[in-house]
This record gives sequence, C-alpha cells and structure tokens, in this order.
Amino acid sequence: MSVCPESIPPKACLFLDFDGTLVDFAPDPQSVLVTPDLLCLLATLTQRFEGALALVTGRALGDVDGLIRPLQLPVAALHGTVRRDAKGTTLIGTNASIGEFAASSRRIREHFQYWVDQQPGVMLEDKGLALALHFRGARSRWTPTRDDLAELESILPPELELICGALVVEVRCRGDDKGTAVEAFLNEAPFRDRVPIYIGDDVADARAIEVVERRGGIAIAVGDRIDARFHFPDPSALRHWLTHLAFGRESP
Ligand SMILES: [Mg+2]
Repeated sequence: MSVCPESIPPKACLFLDFDGTLVDFAPDPQSVLVTPDLLCLLATLTQRFEGALALVTGRALGDVDGLIRPLQLPVAALHGTVRRDAKGTTLIGTNASIGEFAASSRRIREHFQYWVDQQPGVMLEDKGLALALHFRGARSRWTPTRDDLAELESILPPELELICGALVVEVRCRGDDKGTAVEAFLNEAPFRDRVPIYIGDDVADARAIEVVERRGGIAIAVGDRIDARFHFPDPSALRHWLTHLAFGRESP
C-alpha cells in the first residue's frame, strides 16, 4: 500500500536513488529499462524543482550518465564517493584513489572472482573505486551465506567497507556515503535553504534518510527493505506519484 506525502513544501529539493527506486531491477545492471517517459519525467521534475534535483546512486558516474543521456544531472555516484555538483564540477572523496583501492581490494576481488567462477550468472562489476558482486542473475539462486560475509569482513582492510544491498554485495572506500553526499548538496545552491525529499530503497539509502529526517525533510522508502515515514510498494508506484508531481497541479 502506498503512503505518499499529502503535500510537498513550497520550496523543496529532491534526491532520488536510481536502481530499485526510479527503475526496476534487472538481472544485469546494464539491462535496466530507462524509457523516454522516464527521461521526460526527470527533465520536467528538474524544472519544477528549479534545478534542485540530484540522483544518489551506487552506480559509477559515467554509467548513470550513459543511462539517462542526453540529460546530465547533479549526481552522487558510487554511494557518495564521487559527486558532480549542480555546476557540473566532479569531486572525488578524500579517501578515494583508484590505485590504492585496487591494491587494498585485491583479496576481496579474488574472493568475488571465485564465486563468479563457481556460480553461473553471478557477475563481478569493477567500478574503479568500488567492486560489486551481483547475484540477481545467479542461475541456482545462490547468495553468499552469513559465514561467507563474515569471512569477507574479516579480510577487509580498515579503509574499505562492505555494503550488502538487494542481491548485491559491494566493497567501497570508507568515509563518504550517501548521507555525506546529501549534506554536501544541501550546503550548495540550488539545494541550500530548501526542504530535502529523499527517496530510496536499500540499506545504503538509510544514511541519507537519517540526514534528511534530521534536517526536517521528507523520507520516502520504495519496497520493504528500509523504513521511512512514507512508502511506495515498488518503482512503478513511485513513478506514478512523481508523474503527478511533475505534470499535475501541485507545485514543488
Ligand atoms: Mg537502490
């Protein structure tokens, strides 16, 4: 059942997670469906929020840009490790260097590769500053056990962290996250002095939701993996509400 906000504050800004929130999951991250209608929706919402709309995603920046081309939006990519602000400037997290990440994640990469070799349909994605193991397409419906994850944690260097999402396990640089990315946007125009609305579906979104709730904003969850004050059952229900917000009579 949907529990959507009855009204939107007159001066708001919008932060949107991508996979599982705006678009439905696909077995392979590259095969998600981004329709012309969705691009039109994002462009119209950006106008309605006077440019104060950002995507906050675990995807790499170039990856999300490719999916929403020709749009180019403010984006927090790789769960906040990389951020492109509203002026188009790209900022890399202080703890992030591709060379250091590659060196410190070597053992994790070996572990991930072992599972890829053993389990048909499991996929390793190298995002440069993060490594993701996707098992949405696993033919045997394989997922890592609690012991597997504990073993990964035990070999994780202190500068890296493990995030367990929806049928994905990811290793990334510790430090910046979706919450710090949202804080950074809220300190800059055109997001500053607006009431933040955050919409996400997964554990990595919980940090951004904490920030938004602390700052008197509106948090909305999609699906049943995380809690928030408002809730949509799936991306399709969210897109329906956003369409009403973008093209209906309500003004953001
Ligand atoms: Mg998501």
